[in-house]
Amino acid sequence: MILLISDLHLEEERPDISRAFLHFLQTRAIHAETLYILGDFFEVWVGDDAISPFQRSIAQSLRQLSDSGTRIYLMHGNRDFMIGREFCREAGCTLLRDPSVIELAGEPVLLMHGDSLCTQDPAYMRLRRWLRNPLSLFILRHLPLATRHKLARKLRKESRVQTRLKAGDIVDVTPAEIPRVMADNAVRTLIHGHTHRPALHKLEVDGQPARRIVLGDWDKQGWALQIDEQGYQLAPFALDA
Ligand code: MN
Repeated sequence: MILLISDLHLEEERPDISRAFLHFLQTRAIHAETLYILGDFFEVWVGDDAISPFQRSIAQSLRQLSDSGTRIYLMHGNRDFMIGREFCREAGCTLLRDPSVIELAGEPVLLMHGDSLCTQDPAYMRLRRWLRNPLSLFILRHLPLATRHKLARKLRKESRVQTRLKAGDIVDVTPAEIPRVMADNAVRTLIHGHTHRPALHKLEVDGQPARRIVLGDWDKQGWALQIDEQGYQLAPFALDA
């Protein structure tokens, strides 16, 4: 069994989400072969050298899961793109580049965070290119911590996000981008998060039936995509279960 989640936006201010995540690890992920976390796992990440006690406790629970035999793959989101090797070493997970094609149930599947599909926001796309450039990342990682915190606050403010994101606050994917990236990567299944609009979309790619599965954010409820003998099941669950 494989599990995919995204957009937990873990932060100390939402202990209900962290508790639900720990419960999810102990009751579901423990039975999974592989857990994929497709970005925005943390609400904010200013560098592995600035890990907070809260973030360290999350790393330790991931480490427990990986020690128990579940493989964990982590993809960057637009909030936590500064997560680095140090965190992954501590958490026992492997960084997955965005985009990645993996094999799920014998089928090539494209995994993305999803922000790169939202091309209607050119200012964000420019910023994203700059932020994902290795040289920019090198510079960012070497800024004093106070400056990094200040920048993180500014970034969150500019994306009009002081509180939790509603789908309406996030630019949705550009419809034409979907069949293009799927054809480019020769897949008929795309799984991504970011937009906070969980859904299963049917479409056509090169005249073939295809599907796009959008993972949900964890806010009012949690979301996970489970892949097993029954197929694909995208379902919400109560945070306080
Ligand atoms: Mn995102």
